[in-house]
Amino acid sequence: PLYNVMASDKKSHYVTLADFVTNQEGTGIVHIAPAFGEDDFNLGKQLDLPIYRTVDEEGRIAKEVSQWMGIFVKEADNQIMEELTQRSLLYRHEKIKHTYPFCWRCDSPLLSYSLKTWFIKVSEVRERLVETNMQINWVPEHVKEGRFGNWLENARDWNVSRNRYWGTPLPIWECHDCGHQLCVGSLEELKQYAAESQKNDIEDLDLHRPFIDDIKLLCPNCGKPAVRVEEVLDCWFESGSMPYAQEHYPFENKYEFENSFPADFIAEGMDQTRGWFYTLHVIANILFDKPAFSNVIVNGIGLDEKGVKLSKRLRNYTEPEVLMDKAGADAMRYFFFAGTPMGEDWRFSEKLVIEKMRKVLMTWWNSYVFFTTYASIDDWDPQKAPEVKAPEQNVLDKWIMSRLQSLINQMTESFERYDLTKAARPIEGFINEMSTWYIRRSRRRFWKTENDDDKNSAYSTLYTVLITLTKLTAPIMPFISEEIYQDLVVSFDPSAPESVHLCLYPEVDTSLIDQQLESNMDKVQQIVEMARALRSKVGIKIRQPLKELRIWAEDLNLEQELEEIIIEEINVKKMVVAEQIPDYYLSQETDDLKVTLDPTLTEELKREGMIRDLVREIQSARKKAGLQIEDHINLDLLFESAELTSAIQEWREYLLSETLCQDLKVQDDHVSGSFQTDFEVQRVQVKLGISKAS
Ligand SMILES: [Zn+2]
Ligand SMILES: [Zn+2]
Repeated sequence: PLYNVMASDKKSHYVTLADFVTNQEGTGIVHIAPAFGEDDFNLGKQLDLPIYRTVDEEGRIAKEVSQWMGIFVKEADNQIMEELTQRSLLYRHEKIKHTYPFCWRCDSPLLSYSLKTWFIKVSEVRERLVETNMQINWVPEHVKEGRFGNWLENARDWNVSRNRYWGTPLPIWECHDCGHQLCVGSLEELKQYAAESQKNDIEDLDLHRPFIDDIKLLCPNCGKPAVRVEEVLDCWFESGSMPYAQEHYPFENKYEFENSFPADFIAEGMDQTRGWFYTLHVIANILFDKPAFSNVIVNGIGLDEKGVKLSKRLRNYTEPEVLMDKAGADAMRYFFFAGTPMGEDWRFSEKLVIEKMRKVLMTWWNSYVFFTTYASIDDWDPQKAPEVKAPEQNVLDKWIMSRLQSLINQMTESFERYDLTKAARPIEGFINEMSTWYIRRSRRRFWKTENDDDKNSAYSTLYTVLITLTKLTAPIMPFISEEIYQDLVVSFDPSAPESVHLCLYPEVDTSLIDQQLESNMDKVQQIVEMARALRSKVGIKIRQPLKELRIWAEDLNLEQELEEIIIEEINVKKMVVAEQIPDYYLSQETDDLKVTLDPTLTEELKREGMIRDLVREIQSARKKAGLQIEDHINLDLLFESAELTSAIQEWREYLLSETLCQDLKVQDDHVSGSFQTDFEVQRVQVKLGISKAS
């Protein structure tokens, strides 16, 4: 040895082999200091090397090294090299770059020490940890026997003490005379062992340092004073003690604790398999021989659009407050619920959250606004309306009610399994179909002037759908659901629960589910979509009626009402189910479906198309004129086209009723009306004057 301090009888100063040393880094020879490094320490233990603690806990050279005693270890380097040079023992010295640990908080260089410390002997309960883990429902399931299970199988003893000042003091007092160690379990015990003169101080004692360290106990073994050991607890021990600590158990709330343990469910990130999930599990097993939680939802890690982990340092995300202002907290919540399968890392971007706001929140909100707009025109009151139990009369009502029940079923089942993604995802599709299919297809039913059964059924159905949806989505989108619930329920019914969050969760009524109808409606939507694609391929817009749609499909058996929906949607005069298809038909097909369309435009069809275009222009003029949907109007038209003249003659009644027009005049020289505009209908210039009818 170069120096002969702290001489030991143990064999040391020789070359040996170790698998943590490679020739990829440095020379392939490493100096071992068992007191100052984990690998060093383990090898030292294995070879029974002496442990020289030449640096104290302040980072200064220890008093045993008299030559440099008290000098900070990094500052001693030069003096040691100088001294070695004087003795001609230094062959060469140079600076090399290598990795080194630094404090993550204050960036000070760190020194590793081997210390005496306190452990919980987890290895002794390892098998029980694995066994009781089988009682836990993990979402996603693979974590159970994967990351968590593997970690348990290799559970090591847990170092629970820390050599720092702040923290929960380790409640162990040590007698310096006989060495007896006393672990104090309560204030009562503390008082019991305290010296007579200190018993009174304990009542109001702050149980932290420095106050707790002033309490000297009397050694139950020899009667001499015992002092608290210096260590504090690993903060993970506190996290793991949450179920008991939060109830101040066992000193208080025995009943509450015993009736809520193990917890129904907890949720945290994947990294907690070694953290919180683990410490909860270890402590619960040691204390109660059972798990601390019955269900656990494990979240993946948040990544940005490019797949880089979200970090406060990189700021690679939109601030939540900013995004909530832009898209709302509900959109963010929906994104988190529905965006990514449970447990997988999720990619976060402002764009995706805003997309959820548009597709889900706005669509839902607009559906609600549609409903309230018409309901208030008609003074429709849910309290007075007959409840729709089985809406037999209209196939759309029957279908959306069935879809709603299927949604309840799907969401409830998924929630029961703690699969939040599967519970949340179908909402988007449902809201989309409610808006673009049910409401769009039912629009006319709300427009009708008379309050007949069909209109009432439409109101009651849409009302039921909207309020059921508020209850279904309340846990996922708590704000929009509450807002709509307040307006649609509380404002009508003072006896209703005052908040959607106080309502019972909807229960499925399977008698309303008609799977055949749902799958037929899927087919209808598919046919409509394909036929629309055919129209746009030849540039014939949907307002222009066409003669015939022919479809062919295996096992296609559509009710009359569903065929009518297709006919209206595609705007054809008739629909035929047939295998024979003329050559000039446009066609598109999938594996089990062929949709074809006759593109021939007759004079008659052209005239009807003109009228449809005209109606559309008049409707948009109504809006521009600031008229309400229910206002009746008078119209003046001016144009030069024999074709349009005869079209108007032919379709006069239709035109009047579609536009709520009481008086329609075709003029020769000028139009009158409080609002005037002009436009083209199939290349015919039209001047229009519009005024509100008295
Ligand atoms: Zn630091
Ligand atoms: Zn003692």
